[in-house]
Amino acid sequence: MRPPVTLPELVPDLVAAARAELGEGPVWDPATGQLVWVDILGRRVHRFRPEDGLDVVILDTPSDVGAVAPRRDGGLVLALADGFWLLDPDATTPRPHRPVGAGWPDVRFNDGKVDGGGRFWAGTMAYDQRPGAGSLYRLDPDGQVERMLDGVTISNGLAWTDDRRTLYYIDTPTRRVDAFDCDAASGAITGRRTVVQLSDDQAGSPDGMTIDAEGGLWVALWGGWAVHRYLPDGTLAAIIRMPVARPTSCAFGGADLGDLYITSARADLTADALVAQPAAGGLFRVRPGLAGRPSVPFAG
Ligand code: CA
Repeated sequence: MRPPVTLPELVPDLVAAARAELGEGPVWDPATGQLVWVDILGRRVHRFRPEDGLDVVILDTPSDVGAVAPRRDGGLVLALADGFWLLDPDATTPRPHRPVGAGWPDVRFNDGKVDGGGRFWAGTMAYDQRPGAGSLYRLDPDGQVERMLDGVTISNGLAWTDDRRTLYYIDTPTRRVDAFDCDAASGAITGRRTVVQLSDDQAGSPDGMTIDAEGGLWVALWGGWAVHRYLPDGTLAAIIRMPVARPTSCAFGGADLGDLYITSARADLTADALVAQPAAGGLFRVRPGLAGRPSVPFAG
């Protein structure tokens, strides 16, 4: 008889009691040594400074902010509800860059990330979450916007392998992590297949995601009180037990990229639920013993 498999179980610390409505999109900014993250529905961009634990709102956005990423020469690229915007290095307000006719006002941008070529990818979802109303877009440094996928419902986690030849992607209601072959030069994606399928008895749905230096995928389980590490063959390899029901996304940070930061949400939780999980909407951190990979700034 096979012995029962004991998975590593980790418990994170709350590092910022930010009470975000929908905390999301953490990205480590090596230029400042800080973690940038967003509150999508709170329309705020945060910066967390590890040396003193200070978490500050650096920007209020004019619409829901799905995702942001640092730009190569400073400032931010933002996926706001109606398209891509830019914050210039010394500016205090963002400016419209490329509107995306994605169905706004009943569709908004959601999760996004920069690939190894400095291109910013971000997907959309309908506010009412109706099936197939979302897409996945790619903003190139020269300002061109390409629709890479359509028929998406809730576009979420994105992660690329080190060799840039594989993209992992989550459309939340599928309960899957899918993989694509990537052409690193052109950014084209082909050959979609499933690498992780959550079982029916697994609580929660896959949301945001990051990848570690060994190719493991860290997937936040919205409603699942956990972040899971999966190997690319689908094996569950580690579990982070969260004190909140709705972890949303995660990213490695810190000088050695050994800290895993995890965002969370409090929107729509009942009063009873908020009593049971007072840290909901906070920013968490854990050291899982594996490092992440450096984030790439947007090259535009
Ligand atoms: Ca998300």
